[in-house]
Amino acid sequence: MTPSESPTRTQPIASEDRDTGPLVRIRGVNKHFGTTQVLHDVDLDVRRGEVVAVIGPSGSGKSTLCRCVNRLETITSGTIEVGGVPVPAEGRGLSNLRAEAGMVFQSFNLFAHLTALQNIALAPVKVRGVSKAEARERGLRLLARVGLADKADSHPAMLSGGQQQRVAIARALAMEPSVLLCDEPTSALDPEMIQEVLDVLAELAAEGMTMIVVTHEMGFARKVADRVVFMDGGRILTSAPPIDFFADPGHERAGDFLAKVL
Ligand code: ADP
Ligand code: MG
Repeated sequence: MTPSESPTRTQPIASEDRDTGPLVRIRGVNKHFGTTQVLHDVDLDVRRGEVVAVIGPSGSGKSTLCRCVNRLETITSGTIEVGGVPVPAEGRGLSNLRAEAGMVFQSFNLFAHLTALQNIALAPVKVRGVSKAEARERGLRLLARVGLADKADSHPAMLSGGQQQRVAIARALAMEPSVLLCDEPTSALDPEMIQEVLDVLAELAAEGMTMIVVTHEMGFARKVADRVVFMDGGRILTSAPPIDFFADPGHERAGDFLAKVL
């Protein structure tokens, strides 16, 4: 399929998929960087409203998997679908995908020269075609939702790491994504700021947001996730509800990993 033929999000999603299919469907995905294979035959379904915690040692492919879902990386083979639509190679479908699959990075990635509110309002205007007034209003609502109603006019440099990450979450939400991909959202934060960000993510989860969260916060995985996925060496080794996973990780490497981080 050429990029121009690839389905875009403006096409209606088959109602069957919308109602019953997984929101994110990953099948047989392999990913190479040059000659190095970093994802091996990865299969993963994420249902609507499900929170999947992805854990595993450094270098196991967690970030790469997230980045493949919103096409910050291309896959070598296999398929990834979001809302029943295959991840497009390029073009208009790509900006639609990025809006559907919001990303929260470890390093916040806010625009330094823009205020918190401007960071949040930018993409809805540019990509979603929302009016400036509506984007501003929505941005203010989202800032209030992440507990930063009074920081609308602050630039990132004036905000703590935890506050910056909450702005980054609000920015992702402003696109009304159907899934939020969070890649170690608290790993760059000082310990006292981790909880405020985890609390925001837990609230989103309780409200039904579909999320893939790469994290080393086992308390969060245990309490908030519906499922824990353990990766090692580019493979998903186990996938289980937290109560089962933490009782019995089901794989020696997962057990070793838990022994180190718990
Ligand atoms: P994790 O997030 O679990 O720490 P990553 O997905 O970042 O793991 O990395 C998986 C593997 O892919 C690692 O061996 C890493 O060195 C390699 N890798 C990641 N990004 C690149 C890249 N852009 N070019 C080459 N190798 C990469
Ligand atoms: Mg990573």
